Amino acid sequence: MIQIRNLKKTFGSLTVLNDVNIDIKRGEVISIIGPSGTGKSTFLRCLNLLEEPTSGSIIIDGEELLSDQKVDAPRLRRKMGMVFQSFNLFDHLSVLENVCIGPIKLLGKSKIEAAQRGLKLLKMVGMKEKARSMPAELSGGQKQRAAIARCLSMNPEIILFDEPTSALDPTMVSEVLSVIRALAKQGMTMVIVTHEMSFARNVSTRVLYMDQGVIYEQGTPEEIFDNPQRERTRVFVNRIRDFHYVVQSEDYDLYALEAEFQQFCNKYFLSEQTVQHAVTLAEEMLQHIPLGHGDVHLYYRYSEKNGTLDMEILMPTSTGPVIEKMPPEVKAKIYSFCTTVEEYEDVDVRDGVHVNRICLELHNTQLK
Ligand code: ADP
Ligand code: MG
Repeated sequence: MIQIRNLKKTFGSLTVLNDVNIDIKRGEVISIIGPSGTGKSTFLRCLNLLEEPTSGSIIIDGEELLSDQKVDAPRLRRKMGMVFQSFNLFDHLSVLENVCIGPIKLLGKSKIEAAQRGLKLLKMVGMKEKARSMPAELSGGQKQRAAIARCLSMNPEIILFDEPTSALDPTMVSEVLSVIRALAKQGMTMVIVTHEMSFARNVSTRVLYMDQGVIYEQGTPEEIFDNPQRERTRVFVNRIRDFHYVVQSEDYDLYALEAEFQQFCNKYFLSEQTVQHAVTLAEEMLQHIPLGHGDVHLYYRYSEKNGTLDMEILMPTSTGPVIEKMPPEVKAKIYSFCTTVEEYEDVDVRDGVHVNRICLELHNTQLK
């Protein structure tokens, strides 16, 4: 769908992108990770010509975006939608007007047509009730979901996301990630710059690690996160630490799990309370997950960068959704110990098997 060749961008004497080459196929979900200041935003901005590349070529559906004079650049650019960290909604327009203005002004749609489709899109991102609200009345997560609906209103063939959750309160990250995940399921082609590593791992078909203006390494999520080949990638992804435990039956060894996990936590100066919460959740949730139908994988991930502890449980789909069926006191603990709680059906990237996945991010009470 898009071919990028020898893309370069300099600002004065500063080379920000140095020979970027990549092909993007229809339906791909590509995450871009890497240290800040390495040109990730500049890359997205060059891709849709918000910045003019210094040299190189960008070919969309066989048409060269940069050199050929006869090409209708605005039409080609319209194939790409962009979602920014800072939402960029029009503050003086209502949510629905924000979603309608593009189709009316640029696609020549009637007001009625634009509003009908706009409401559909707002419903899709869970924002139909807020159609008449002004952006100032919305939470950060709602603003970003409105921005995604606005982007969709232009019928883009690909959406570029530049750290869509970085400006959000931790409690609102998951509502935005869920919308992006739903788009991925519908087959939307997307390029997502993100610091949310577990999201990048779960949602992407391909991960690009960018460093110092080049795509330093790329691969499947497993290749990049579990088995990076090059030094700088390894250093970057290993800042996120993993603890993995497999529960095969009801007779699993809770004491061994606890002891191993305690060791893991001691290494990262997690507070006694966080450790207690994490162990309690594992123990109590495992009591209400049908065991013996296949392995249940328990992951804890600690991110040095964010200082957060994530807990992930993968189980066979035959269990169906389990959190809803848990007793109220267990549910109460889950929601009081965690800032985000998600459960959804997914494909396990390691073996392509369908799984039911629970993702929790624990409140962090870190000691330093
Ligand atoms: P990232 O998104 O990976 O954090 P950016 O693409 O935002 O990185 O920036 C890469 C480098 O380019 C940084 O050193 C930044 O200061 C520089 N840069 C970005 N935009 C401009 C600009 N408009 N003018 C000058 N320098 C810029
Ligand atoms: Mg950036």
